[in-house]
Amino acid sequence: MFDELAPEYGELRRNVRRFNEEVLDPVGPAADEQGKFPLEVFRQAAKLGYVGAHLPEEYGGAGDLVAKAVIYEENCRINLGYNVSVNASDLLFANNVAKFGTPEQKRRYLPPIIAGDKIGCWALTEPNSGSDALSITTRWEPAGDGFVLNGQKTFITNAPIADFFIVIARKPGSKGLEGGTTFILERGLPGLSTGEPMKKMGCMASPTGEVVLEDVKVGREQVLGEVGAGLRQMLKSLDVERCLSPFSSIGVSMACLEHSVRYAHERSQFGKPIASYQLIQQKIAEMAMNLEIIRAYCYQLLEMVKQGKSVTRQAAMAKLFASRMVTKTTNEALQIFGGYGYMKEYPIEHHLRDARLLEIGAGTSEIQTLVIAREVYKELGFSRK
Ligand SMILES: Cc1cc2nc3c(=O)[nH]c(=O)nc-3n(C[C@H](O)[C@H](O)[C@H](O)COP(=O)(O)OP(=O)(O)OC[C@H]3O[C@@H](n4cnc5c(N)ncnc54)[C@H](O)[C@@H]3O)c2cc1C
Repeated sequence: MFDELAPEYGELRRNVRRFNEEVLDPVGPAADEQGKFPLEVFRQAAKLGYVGAHLPEEYGGAGDLVAKAVIYEENCRINLGYNVSVNASDLLFANNVAKFGTPEQKRRYLPPIIAGDKIGCWALTEPNSGSDALSITTRWEPAGDGFVLNGQKTFITNAPIADFFIVIARKPGSKGLEGGTTFILERGLPGLSTGEPMKKMGCMASPTGEVVLEDVKVGREQVLGEVGAGLRQMLKSLDVERCLSPFSSIGVSMACLEHSVRYAHERSQFGKPIASYQLIQQKIAEMAMNLEIIRAYCYQLLEMVKQGKSVTRQAAMAKLFASRMVTKTTNEALQIFGGYGYMKEYPIEHHLRDARLLEIGAGTSEIQTLVIAREVYKELGFSRK
């Protein structure tokens, strides 16, 4: 059922699925309970080419955005938390290096990320700056030939385990999009520290934490892109990230649909499988319909991205639709499972806890809504104050 949109990727999908079912799935409960990223699984996956497939071939990737989407769906079908961490490393960190880095930065950072030897993270959010990203106060100032950084980032995926960090800071006194600069930092730099993994509701396989910068001194070679252009750069890379992010919701929804159909046929009440009741069929039909429509839209969006088209409105629509869908799908799946769905022994409760992140991370549903309205006004010739 899930092959038809990218039939030429059928073999990749089957291989990733087999690997994830045989290797990733069994470690899921322990990762969930202990809050640990399954590093060994990640390294094996990287050796098979399942990390950084979208990154340039010359650094070890496959230069293939659709392959990345297929892997993304398949990872999330099994364990969203695992994919959140993979993604912070090979998309949020590495895609920015691939897009804005110097040849030397690309040679230094991309191959070990793609090989799974190193882990990256991307740090924008701060304790007082979330949706309002331009309000960051982490600051950079010139110091000798380089810069000195001070500030605190929070909710950063992979911070507790990362080797490499992309940190966005601003020049004191700068406003709006001006004065932002992006730095690549490495663990071990004096003044850079990370906190313990935060305790959270779901996605436990993905460690989340703080990054603290106290008089961190870096040279010019650690600037990613142009000094002062960091916040503009961030907006440029958001389209690709937002086009891929709905595949998280899609992968989790695929899993919930499959589990629900199977369970509804196995579970009998009032002398018949619950699958035969129309109220159950309605839930299944709606899950399948939403899933199929958003998948078609998202694969089409990837084609637009490949052609270099701007997809700000479309990406926000895809992210909003898909993340609302997965909130609903996980709830409906739990309903179909009844009391068993509430039990940890069954897979739905972890999908539901994990998926709740998807209306928050990478821009909340409210922010996607504002982006859509702004773009629609703009495209129809109205500007919004
Ligand atoms: C598990 C996890 C992993 C994360 N990983 C990363 C990461 O790797 N790197 C990183 O930089 N960040 C990361 N984040 C942070 C994430 O991007 C932010 O949580 C998100 O952008 C929302 O910011 P906030 O939590 O401060 O909420 P707030 O911005 O405080 O929002 C609170 C509520 O107010 C609403 N709201 C805010 N502004 C408006 C408005 N103008 N109109 C209407 N409603 C509004 C929001 O939609 C939300 O419902 C992660 C978060 C989590 C939970």
